Amino acid sequence: MTILPQRALTRVEDLIEAGLAPADRADGLQQVAEAFRIRVSPEMQAAMIDADDAIARQFLPDTAELTIRPEELYDPIGDITYSPTPGLTHRYPDRVILAATHTCEVYCRFCFRREAVGEEGALPEADLEAALAYIAATPAIWEVILTGGDPLVLSPRRLSALMQRLSAIPHVEIVRFHTRVPVVAPARITDDMIAALRARPTTYLVLHTNHAQEITPAAQAALKRLADAGIPLLSQTVLLKGINDSAATLESLFRTLLRHRVTPYYLHHCDLARGTSHFRTTIAAGQAIMAQLRGRLSGIGLPTYVLDIPGGFGKVPIGPGYVEPTGDAYQITDWQGRRHAYRDPDAP
Ligand SMILES: *Cc1c(COP(=O)(O)O)cnc(C)c1O
Ligand code: SF4
Repeated sequence: MTILPQRALTRVEDLIEAGLAPADRADGLQQVAEAFRIRVSPEMQAAMIDADDAIARQFLPDTAELTIRPEELYDPIGDITYSPTPGLTHRYPDRVILAATHTCEVYCRFCFRREAVGEEGALPEADLEAALAYIAATPAIWEVILTGGDPLVLSPRRLSALMQRLSAIPHVEIVRFHTRVPVVAPARITDDMIAALRARPTTYLVLHTNHAQEITPAAQAALKRLADAGIPLLSQTVLLKGINDSAATLESLFRTLLRHRVTPYYLHHCDLARGTSHFRTTIAAGQAIMAQLRGRLSGIGLPTYVLDIPGGFGKVPIGPGYVEPTGDAYQITDWQGRRHAYRDPDAP
């Protein structure tokens, strides 16, 4: 049994004291902290092997974050552009994103919502009422995606109240949670929390996780509780340079997830959030990794590699492509890179 540190680290002084940041960088790191909140949960502190490993790099501030490139955006995926009421984003007709809180258990250094998270806590009551009124008045909304922030930082009582409000809207059939909590703060996954999640309507949970090292024994137990409760579990992973940008690393993560009944859903190309260029790979690199994984890893372990098009145009799969039109046929590439001609038997 791991003995957990008592509290989350949220200040540069705490990090220096814990030996997780060099004292001679204090000034630069302080500047980073003023721009982007810091928080490393006790569980993630304990899971770090050293201050430069795959967990450390995700949560410890780095002066590289002070480099803001001209292409980087305050609102990289257009959450604000498509917001009908505060806290709500309605981009696709059938689903909305509801940011029920701006707080997280950890602040990821590459977060695409880094400008929006870390501020005040739960969405103000009046904004929540306005969001629920909009959802109730829009019959096309079939699914509500709770994100943030991290919705599982809310108390089971609060979540259960929110779930009851959503259940009362007949056209909302699915509620989906996007969360890091089962991994970064697994002790929050209590019986009460699970009961809150299981309130009708149908609940899906999408776990954000980027490296097998995060899936500690406590995280495994939390995933087991969720899966045993019958909640379908999916995952999303951000492709991050120096953290998980190799086929072997992702293979290990995806196999670990499958073993714990989590189906890999999306591999995100790293968004153009401000101060995150040191994490970003090229699309070509991401495609090469996905190509290596196909054939080498069970199909149920292969997520879709997606780009959220800057400006709010939505997510699209970005390959690699296996099909290329060649006049009256197609050239198809197999998992070993060999090419084959295929002609639709019924094509004109
Ligand atoms: C990512 C996102 C969704 C969910 O997209 P899926 O492809 O259904 O997972 C919905 N709305 C917005 C605004 C999003 O950014
Ligand atoms: S937990 Fe999610 S929302 Fe919060 S900082 Fe990390 S990526 Fe961003």
